[in-house]
Amino acid sequence: MDEEEISKQVSSLIWDLSAYMTNEICPNCLDSNLRLTLEAGKERPIIKFCDECLYTGVNDKYTKISGDLVPATKKIVESYLKFKLRLQRR
Ligand SMILES: [Zn+2]
Repeated sequence: MDEEEISKQVSSLIWDLSAYMTNEICPNCLDSNLRLTLEAGKERPIIKFCDECLYTGVNDKYTKISGDLVPATKKIVESYLKFKLRLQRR
């Protein structure tokens, strides 16, 4: 394993640990769950991202994102979970 390979594996591990994974299945490949991400440097919108097919969606619609994706912040994950909870209680 060379250094580049190690650094790739480390960043993929960090991604796995830090990007919140929802229980929503990717509408595109139906093969993986969606993660909550943001475009680097922006607080909104919340982008749902699929590791498997690289689908990116905003408000459950496919949306092309040109910038880099970063894991959603803790605050964003919290507001997402509260929103889900409210939907369930209806
Ligand atoms: Zn997918």
